[in-house]
Amino acid sequence: MASVIKRCDCPPGSWSSCGHSWVVRYRTDGGRGSGQRERIFGRNKRGADDFALKVEHDKRGTVFVDPAEGKTRFGEYAQLWLAQRVLAEGTVATYESVLRIHILPAFGGKHLATVWRRDIKDLLTRMRHRGLGASRITRPTW
Ligand SMILES: [Zn+2]
Repeated sequence: MASVIKRCDCPPGSWSSCGHSWVVRYRTDGGRGSGQRERIFGRNKRGADDFALKVEHDKRGTVFVDPAEGKTRFGEYAQLWLAQRVLAEGTVATYESVLRIHILPAFGGKHLATVWRRDIKDLLTRMRHRGLGASRITRPTW
């Protein structure tokens, strides 16, 4: 859960009036760069609450992209993702070829934050039209 906190020494009961910065503490999902993050909102409690809500909402919709990681290129992320899987060699080879032939030409150079669900659906449709087997299309669970 994202939490809206203060890092000052004031007792939590006095946070609403103490004047120190509101901080949203949240976790990113999976991946090597995952972990606890914080974003500082100054005295803007409303902004902090809204951000915390958005993080949770986006995570549930599995569209959460950490703002700092949204600048990662899709191609780099895909290689990292693949390197982190524990897969049979044949499966790795299959994923690599699907990446190389279909996915990287479409998205490899794009920033993660600019790849939309719609783009992925379009790509999957094109892959199906090219006769790629369903097992190759539906296996990855991101
Ligand atoms: Zn304080």
